[in-house]
Amino acid sequence: MAVELQQSKSAFAIAQRRFDRAADVLALPENTRRVLREVKRELTVHFPVHHDDGAVHLYTGYRVQHNINRGPAKGGIRYSSNVSLDLVKALAMLMTWKCAVVGIPYGGAKGGVVVDPRQLSPTELEHLTRRYATEIALLIGPEKDIPAPDLGTTPQVMAWIMDTISMHAGHSVTASVTGKPVDIGGSEGRQDAAGRGVTYLTLEALKYLHASEETPTVAVQGFGKVGTSTARLLQEAGLRVVAVSDSGGGVYNPKGLDLTALHEHRKFRGGVSGFKKADDVTGDELLELPVTVLVPAATEQQITERNADRVQARLITEAANAAVSPEGDVILHERGLFLVPDILANAGGVVVSYFEWVQDLQAFFWEEEEINTKLHHVLTRAFYEVLHTSVNKRIDMRTAAYVLAVQRVANATTVRGIYP
Ligand code: NAD
Repeated sequence: MAVELQQSKSAFAIAQRRFDRAADVLALPENTRRVLREVKRELTVHFPVHHDDGAVHLYTGYRVQHNINRGPAKGGIRYSSNVSLDLVKALAMLMTWKCAVVGIPYGGAKGGVVVDPRQLSPTELEHLTRRYATEIALLIGPEKDIPAPDLGTTPQVMAWIMDTISMHAGHSVTASVTGKPVDIGGSEGRQDAAGRGVTYLTLEALKYLHASEETPTVAVQGFGKVGTSTARLLQEAGLRVVAVSDSGGGVYNPKGLDLTALHEHRKFRGGVSGFKKADDVTGDELLELPVTVLVPAATEQQITERNADRVQARLITEAANAAVSPEGDVILHERGLFLVPDILANAGGVVVSYFEWVQDLQAFFWEEEEINTKLHHVLTRAFYEVLHTSVNKRIDMRTAAYVLAVQRVANATTVRGIYP
């Protein structure tokens, strides 16, 4: 029983279950299945960091590569107290499917450090980042594995990683990370890319659903990098953003939120709660509001068997990785809610990261308009491929996305002749 409970909470076990479901639909041969359901490499590092008060703290970090048969490994770096090897393995596997479903030539990876970055001074954060980058340097590099920002990391963190790798190499290795500031080889449009992708896909899904509301309403859980871009871009596209939340709670105004005023409030108060032009709601209440679109853009396991039957949105665009649990998936599907699954919904980030890497390798940079047009093309194509798979095979959208992705990775694995 205890083991069962532990397994059901393992993020990697959940990722494997989702893979198994797709492998069953595809009737994937046992050999290929065995290889794809495990990660290729996992590195754990423990490293010291000098704090400002002179004390030395020991931190633990990870870098995991799940699969590199379609190209170099790609995946973000997360700074959070919730980071564990199990979670990083799950997120690395997710990256493999994400890159495959949108058809970019990468495998999947993920990294992280067990730390709450808000507890560190800027100097401590820089020391920690440089030390972690040095520890994982044996795995990363433009042809091998290219990190990017994720929860708790920023373009500044990417700049420190790139600088550390470059110091070791003796020259600037701009293509070693993506999500960097534009001044050092970052891409136009990268900052908003994940949120822009969520926006494009939400609009495409609403079109498909023939949403009848004159002004569809939106609730966004998580007001970080992805959540803020998504809220702003959906509002610019004519939707009404009525609720947002962060880890301190949420705010709701059925007439729509003034996002500019909310940003000012947050700067001052450190969170969205207490915003005068809206009512406070709890994080859980936000997920159950009567809206057209719900965008979970915070963290894993937010919509589960605990609350999936109370979600009122017609469309969920799953911006945060694994925001819906497998049990939540079943309930939402049975209730007829339409889900744009994480590996597709938030792929905008990795697609523009791919564009950034290509630009760095060629030392030839594109305008933002060109990047957004290409992003729209890649995501819309992937959306309809997933939708057709879902309709043709009579499977839900998540399974359809996995089926497409797993098939592509399995093809690459087989054609390379490594595993017949
Ligand atoms: P972030 O650290 O910038 O923001 C996370 C936000 O979520 C913060 O506002 C935090 O307060 C809030 N939050 C945390 N727990 C919460 C809770 N229980 N309820 C409500 N809000 C909560 O992180 P981000 O980069 O915006 O990433 C968000 C999600 O999107 C993650 O799952 C990440 O893996 C995924 N993602 C990010 C990118 C990217 O380019 N940044 C790309 C693809 C996927």
